[in-house]
Amino acid sequence: MSDDLIRRMIQAAAGTIDAHADELTALDQAIGDGDHGLNMQRGFNAIVEAADEIAALSFGQALQKAGMTLVMKVGGASGPLYGSLLMSMGKASADTPGSLDEVSDMLAAGIEAVKARGKSDAGAKTMLDVLVPLHTALKSAGDNPVGVARQAADDGLAATKDMLATKGRASFLGERSIGHLDPGARSSALLVHAVCDIVEAS
Ligand code: ADP
Ligand code: MG
Repeated sequence: MSDDLIRRMIQAAAGTIDAHADELTALDQAIGDGDHGLNMQRGFNAIVEAADEIAALSFGQALQKAGMTLVMKVGGASGPLYGSLLMSMGKASADTPGSLDEVSDMLAAGIEAVKARGKSDAGAKTMLDVLVPLHTALKSAGDNPVGVARQAADDGLAATKDMLATKGRASFLGERSIGHLDPGARSSALLVHAVCDIVEAS
């Protein structure tokens, strides 16, 4: 895995989080405490600051280092959750993850870690409602995995609107959580699109 690819992934992820920080904050203002944009920006800015160190690592180690950075820098629930996702994906990574099966296995490991850390599953109106359908779709993605991944992320995000939140701060709202997109599902969809952009450009 080239140093340059890791750098481009970091830039793409941090760039989309920056560009959509206000939107993430607004979504979290509706059903949470309004800090998701700032939490994600703080975490991804720290990853950008460590980009030289991260890009010098193998792909798996780079993911683990990025995940640890999120855990250390982000105070909200999303820091440890995204941190667990990336660290477990990194641990499951071959040095040069190329095949779709490998990516799918990495994602499965990451999802298990988020479920364990969050004591949650798909259907609770969280980031898992993007990540789990993404994984399911990738397993039978055929010859257009990028298009399938983008669509699964968008559909997963859209489906959170009508869900009742049963995990995280939004669950405190009960029925009033219905009718709003989940902020963490939105940030997950943004990150999926950022990775897809880089894969398409490679
Ligand atoms: P906080 O909720 O601590 O303010 P953020 O606002 O940064 O943290 O992140 C909120 C997002 O984290 C939610 O929109 C949801 O997607 C995700 N989340 C919260 N709790 C859980 C959980 N138990 N399992 C999975 N995801 C969760
Ligand atoms: Mg919040």
